[in-house]
Amino acid sequence: MSWFKRENGKYESGSGPESATDASGKTVLTEGLWIKCLGCRQIIWKADLEANLNVCPKCQHHFKMGARERIALLLEPGFEFVDTGLRSTDPLNFTDTKSYKKRLAAAQHATGLDDAIVNAIGQLGPHSVVISAMEYSFIGGSMGAVVGETIARAVDRARLTRKPLIVIAASGGARMMEGVASLMQMAKISTTLAQLDDAKVPYICILTDPTTGGVTASFAMLGDLNIAEPGALIGFAGPRVIEQTIRQKLPEGFQRSEFLLEKGFLDAVIPRREMKSYLIRALQFLSV
Ligand SMILES: [Zn+2]
Repeated sequence: MSWFKRENGKYESGSGPESATDASGKTVLTEGLWIKCLGCRQIIWKADLEANLNVCPKCQHHFKMGARERIALLLEPGFEFVDTGLRSTDPLNFTDTKSYKKRLAAAQHATGLDDAIVNAIGQLGPHSVVISAMEYSFIGGSMGAVVGETIARAVDRARLTRKPLIVIAASGGARMMEGVASLMQMAKISTTLAQLDDAKVPYICILTDPTTGGVTASFAMLGDLNIAEPGALIGFAGPRVIEQTIRQKLPEGFQRSEFLLEKGFLDAVIPRREMKSYLIRALQFLSV
């Protein structure tokens, strides 16, 4: 990328946002301070982005966010992480380009999590809630047996303590490395959610970018309210697969939050900054 590069050749030193030239002509390393927005393709300060809840200050593109950060954003200080310590046993002893065991170890090391899910209990404004948030950076937020079991525990906890449940979905779908065991999680979580519904405890699902595959096809669409962040990719199969199957061009904005809201698949599209106040009002309404 040419950042300071000029056509006349005067400024050839600029090699992009990783370095800049200060007043005395010295090259200053600025690696990691800048980021290119995926929405407007402008270069933005990382600090500006973080101060704005990882939403582009110029075009409002919602960047991905870690599970723990999302929970901290919604809950009051003093919340507690629960249901930790579950790890996949790699039941199929699976290997593709590298072994599943190695993938798991690398993801655990990189994220500091056991799997692609974090449960927490705490206060959301005046409401005492159970939250389960998916971690996209852990093998694409894919759902294996551990993710399934952890979400099911959050659902059971919500039912037994009669606290509203909030699930934050961010997933590429079922975890192929666990084969059919990963697909069984769809039935498992859906069953516990049916029990939660019978107990009349509210469940809100927040769909973030991306929510696809078996996650969309099960718990992400089963909330009393299904709400999404702006511009999130939400779908079952990817657009290319659908185009090839039905041999038709898909409409503009297909599988994005706003399109799905218009078609009646979602109840609301809420910007990240307004999510907490929206949830507080929604829970007020659902708890009456
Ligand atoms: Zn932008």
